[in-house]
Amino acid sequence: MTEERKLGKAINRLKESGVRITPQRHAVLEFLLTSKSHPTADEIYKALKDKFPNMSVATVYNNLRVLRKIGLVRELTYGDDSSRFDCNMTEHYHIICNDCGKIEDFHYPILDEVESLAEQVTGFEVSHHRMELYGKCKACQQFEIQKH
Ligand SMILES: [Zn+2]
Ligand SMILES: [Zn+2]
Repeated sequence: MTEERKLGKAINRLKESGVRITPQRHAVLEFLLTSKSHPTADEIYKALKDKFPNMSVATVYNNLRVLRKIGLVRELTYGDDSSRFDCNMTEHYHIICNDCGKIEDFHYPILDEVESLAEQVTGFEVSHHRMELYGKCKACQQFEIQKH
């Protein structure tokens, strides 16, 4: 699906849930859809502040909260850094750079059997699982090489 179609679909979803579509909300959503970097609220704010001089980081947070509530955005909490936001709502895993904190999508068949096995073994009713991978991204590897 193209970015434009994704944005159109997301806007429709907003309309259906009765959420007012302010220009800022629209811009936050558009930024998330086009950026593949899983930005923090602060990064979104910095990217949009020239366009919306009256906008604050708190406004960005508020917008993200609204988008998250209606299922258009998910909040990622890894480590104790500030939350990052992802509008790719399909199931996928993340790989995180230990050096620069970059998060990339990693597509791998979702490990459903882990959940059913855990249920069998523990008697729990499993709601979800999370797995993330850590390492050093390509850019940071390059940087290492250049340093020497
Ligand atoms: Zn890195
Ligand atoms: Zn992602």
